[in-house]
Amino acid sequence: MSEEFEGLVAVVTGGASGIGRAVAEELAARGARVAVLDLKDTEFVCDVTDDASVRAAVAAVAERYGRIDVLVNNAGIGAQGTVADNDDAEWLRVFDLNVVGIARVTRAALPHLRTSPHAAIVNTCSIAATAGLPQRALYSASKGAVLALTRAMAADHLREGIRVNCVNPGTVDTPWVGRLLDAAPDPEAERAALCARQPHGRLVTAQEVAHAVAYLASPRAGSTAGVELAVDGGMSGLRLRPV
Ligand code: NAD
Repeated sequence: MSEEFEGLVAVVTGGASGIGRAVAEELAARGARVAVLDLKDTEFVCDVTDDASVRAAVAAVAERYGRIDVLVNNAGIGAQGTVADNDDAEWLRVFDLNVVGIARVTRAALPHLRTSPHAAIVNTCSIAATAGLPQRALYSASKGAVLALTRAMAADHLREGIRVNCVNPGTVDTPWVGRLLDAAPDPEAERAALCARQPHGRLVTAQEVAHAVAYLASPRAGSTAGVELAVDGGMSGLRLRPV
């Protein structure tokens, strides 16, 4: 398996933390040369909401490694509340990052992906795209857009040799979820309650999501396009609703 991505170059947005970091480490362990695009803590500093920054970072990766074979569009932020709780500026901010960010990075990377014999894009979506989660209107809408975008991109680019898929994580134990738990009066009790609400009784690990991303990105998934792979402890597969 360590040879799986030998000779290939992968770009991971939001790869300095959480799921993206686990993805970057997994792809590197399987032989890829990995470029992390993130706001900080990386050689390729990049803000996916800034087109010039994205174009410069992708050009720097191509210059440095000579090719781009795999793109993992993972950078994203959360938002809480009902449809009425976020104002226009917040709606546009979250869509700009979670949805338009994917378009920007993909647009910049496409010329390089088109020349790869094993090109693949994996978008980090969420069970929020389809679950109807309470108090997550804006976030769910943005991830619903990511799901639709994944399918549309898959249709547009498959015949160019670029496969596009997404992963739908459930509740993953990352710094993001850690920050939400830390905001509770009793973080440990909150964590235990959150685990108890998961179908398999625990949080999903970032490594589990990384394995799913690596599979979809690998030549082994050469006939898989336009799908969402759930990594959610059984939530969607068992037709359960988060409580
Ligand atoms: P995280 O906060 O641990 O990591 C997110 C990374 O994205 C950070 O390194 C951050 O610096 C980077 N980032 C944020 N804004 C950026 C920008 N404008 N440009 C470039 N990089 C930027 O979060 P995480 O939990 O690892 O989440 C990663 C992805 O997984 C997100 O798309 C999120 O929606 C999705 N997701 C997370 C969960 C979960 O439970 N943690 C569940 C489903 C989906």
